[in-house]
Amino acid sequence: MNKIFKLLAPQSLVGIAAVCAVMLCLIMAMNLGFILVADGVFVRPISFYGVQAIVVGAPFVFGFTAITTYQLRLQRHLSLLSRKDGLTDLNNRRTFLELAQKRLDGGNAGVLILFDADHFKRINDKWGHAVGDRCLIEISHRLKWNLRPSDVAGRIGGEEFAVLLSNATLHEARVIGWRIGQPIPYRAVDNGPHLSVTLSMGAAEIAPGIALDTHLIRADEALYLAKSKGRARMVIWEPRDKFEENAA
Ligand code: GH3
Ligand code: MG
Ligand code: MG
Repeated sequence: MNKIFKLLAPQSLVGIAAVCAVMLCLIMAMNLGFILVADGVFVRPISFYGVQAIVVGAPFVFGFTAITTYQLRLQRHLSLLSRKDGLTDLNNRRTFLELAQKRLDGGNAGVLILFDADHFKRINDKWGHAVGDRCLIEISHRLKWNLRPSDVAGRIGGEEFAVLLSNATLHEARVIGWRIGQPIPYRAVDNGPHLSVTLSMGAAEIAPGIALDTHLIRADEALYLAKSKGRARMVIWEPRDKFEENAA
């Protein structure tokens, strides 16, 4: 059904013209067929019936095409809104989880990293929510500039972000984490001093046969450890015994 709808509502001008032409031809053919069945003979030249079909059918064809094209555009826009975070234009939590799950289902290796802005509440409290928002946008830019098209990124909570580095090793994740984790500059007031926000990061290597939820829990445990060790750093999840040793 969706395919038929897309066919009837093309997005290019050429496509729209083609759909209108096909529909008008159909109307002409049906008009001729009807006259032949009803009268058994064409009492006027064929061109007359052609013009008649165009004059009667064209307003409906153009109206129909305009409505379906508009509907499809609206549908695309709404679908985009429901998948993206309005502030940063990153994937929202639901979309991120969906895409990450697809990567895992496809057997992709990689590393999941959770990011949490440090002491973000202080930024809001000191400079106001609008500055906090600008800061979140700067964080999203930092993520976007440091990822490859094959990676998946999303804003999964207020000041929390997640990235799935596709087919990356832990070493590569450390390098990317280091780049992303450099203090992120922002300005609280125009022409004011440069301030910066840091990120804490928790990473978990994607292991085959392990559920996404488990990877999220692991990365979250590592993130918690990064916070408790003083923030502005990345901790990589390791099996429990080593992990507890690290936490001590
Ligand atoms: P920590 O280093 O332990 O993570 O401390 P924190 O202050 O970053 O963490 P906390 O959870 O105490 O505060 C998070 C703040 O993020 C509180 C909330 O108001 C703010 N926040 C969440 N979503 C948004 C948003 O969309 N815009 C702005 N400006 N602030 C947000
Ligand atoms: Mg948080
Ligand atoms: Mg925080």
